[in-house]
Amino acid sequence: MPNAPKWIFDVAERLLPKLPLMEVAHLELLSPSVRKIRFSGDFRNLNYKVGSYIDFRVGEKEVRRYTASYADNKNGILELIVHLHGEGSGSKFMKNLKVGDKVDNNQPRTYRYYDESAEKLVIFGDETSLGLARSFLPVLKKNNQKFKFIFELDDENKAIPELLGLENCIVFPKKGSFRKEEWVSELPIIKTLDWQEANFVLTGNVKSAQTFRRVIKAKTNGNVYLHGYWLEGKNGL
Ligand SMILES: Cc1cc2nc3c(=O)[nH]c(=O)nc-3n(C[C@H](O)[C@H](O)[C@H](O)COP(=O)(O)OP(=O)(O)OC[C@H]3O[C@@H](n4cnc5c(N)ncnc54)[C@H](O)[C@@H]3O)c2cc1C
Repeated sequence: MPNAPKWIFDVAERLLPKLPLMEVAHLELLSPSVRKIRFSGDFRNLNYKVGSYIDFRVGEKEVRRYTASYADNKNGILELIVHLHGEGSGSKFMKNLKVGDKVDNNQPRTYRYYDESAEKLVIFGDETSLGLARSFLPVLKKNNQKFKFIFELDDENKAIPELLGLENCIVFPKKGSFRKEEWVSELPIIKTLDWQEANFVLTGNVKSAQTFRRVIKAKTNGNVYLHGYWLEGKNGL
């Protein structure tokens, strides 16, 4: 529920398990529109897994969801990778954070995107999915799974996957190609037999993810987990 009366969020905040205060420790612009934010705090009891997200109270009546891209419980570190896409409350909140700011949050919750038993995984998304991809990388490597990251990104962000150390990445310009079924059908990941049985995790823009899912369903035997992170004209998801 991204928007609701203030009292509903007040009650939810009191009832859900809390995180100790998080303090902004470091900020890094990976491009003019993508920011890495490092928080420090007492995260010994942090419940962190692939797909963990935090609901940030970005206004009295607004909550926006962001993925924890990395966490180190012992050393008290938690990171996000955020898309500063415009004047939305979440984007503005993340843009205005300064080193030393303190943020009060509930414990992360987790979407179960990750299937440890899958032999091959394909993770697709855009700028909003970079944090999820970053959280996937160490476990995929540790468990010797075959994986590919596929992104659609604005030109100014095309170098970010490499900056984040993401391997096996293919980056496409965000120019509407993932809205065209015929174009998606021609992607090597769809055409080669190698990835026919893969697990596909589709996030980022709703319309792109839905188009990709239609093609996967029609042309492969893969399993799909779709979770759109944003949709044109819609506040929060
Ligand atoms: C489980 C989950 C995890 C997420 N993790 C991350 C994350 O780690 N990093 C991250 O950056 N985002 C992440 N998102 C996406 C983020 O919550 C949305 O982009 C959210 O809409 C941003 O809120 P806002 O207040 O800035 O904009 P809103 O008020 O929600 O929207 C204002 C306008 O901006 C548009 N808009 C929203 N997001 C984008 C965008 N990315 N690009 C272009 N236009 C946009 C909307 O369509 C709307 O027209 C996640 C979402 C979910 C559901």
